[in-house]
Amino acid sequence: MATVIESEIVQGLRNGEFILYYQPKASLVTNRIVGAEALARWRRPDALEVPPGVFIPLAERSSLIRQLTLQLLDRLLEDVAGNGLGQGLSVSLNVSARDLEDATLTRTILHALAHRRLATTVLELEITETQALQGGERMLSNVQALAEAGIGLAMDDYGIGYSTMDTLSQWPFTTIKLDQGIVGRMLNSPKNATIVRSSIRLGHELGLSVVAEGVESPEQHDFLVESGCRVAQGYLISRPLPFNEFDVFRHNIGKC
Ligand code: C2E
Ligand code: CA
Ligand code: CA
Ligand code: CA
Repeated sequence: MATVIESEIVQGLRNGEFILYYQPKASLVTNRIVGAEALARWRRPDALEVPPGVFIPLAERSSLIRQLTLQLLDRLLEDVAGNGLGQGLSVSLNVSARDLEDATLTRTILHALAHRRLATTVLELEITETQALQGGERMLSNVQALAEAGIGLAMDDYGIGYSTMDTLSQWPFTTIKLDQGIVGRMLNSPKNATIVRSSIRLGHELGLSVVAEGVESPEQHDFLVESGCRVAQGYLISRPLPFNEFDVFRHNIGKC
């Protein structure tokens, strides 16, 4: 794979090469689309495919992530506001520790939502436990301000961290997203199945929404339904889509 360097990200930011795809989240109760996760894509002039797993960590190390997240937030809100995505749907954006080390993002989010007359409930932020722990107290106070304003907060990749219980009790999470690795293994052994079932119960008993990620097969879907999970995301439902395709998809699903 070609090596990407910081200066290419700088250039990409200047030229607006970073865009968002939206992966639908489906209700396992009503089968309707209840939201989407926004995922960054790099539309490069040389058409080279550089996945977010490569450019995000690089942007995080160089603190270009702050600028990237602000650009993506702007795109997300434009998509959401321009398409009347009000009615009960929420869209999540992935954020890093660096994004929340001061109050810039918090202020920008609250200001932009008000400016576009959007309810705070249309937006959810996804944060991994690793990022939460890296960000520490300052990040926590920014996240608390957002949570108080009604913005959702999802713990991403749930189940692969270490002090999850402590983080879950101290941070104002409203959702946990079961890691796709765990979801992928849950049908391989009774132990994995028990871990998933008890994570779903724990989440619900804490008053949180539980979203299963990386759902690829009908068997996984059925197991999640039986286990009481209410929201799923994964290739079985849909791959991440450009916003206009997501918009068509969610309307069509509602009709079947
Ligand atoms: P993530 O937040 O855990 O996102 C889920 C990843 O799983 C996405 O990969 C998604 O395309 C992929 N995926 C979804 N459904 C399935 C499935 O059924 N099976 C399998 N095998 N994979 C599935 P993607 O888009 O390549 O993103 C990779 C990671 O890069 C994300 O993991 C996230 O940590 C990071 N990332 C992506 N976009 C952003 C962003 O805008 N900001 C930040 N800070 N990080 C981002
Ligand atoms: Ca995520
Ligand atoms: Ca995840
Ligand atoms: Ca991940």
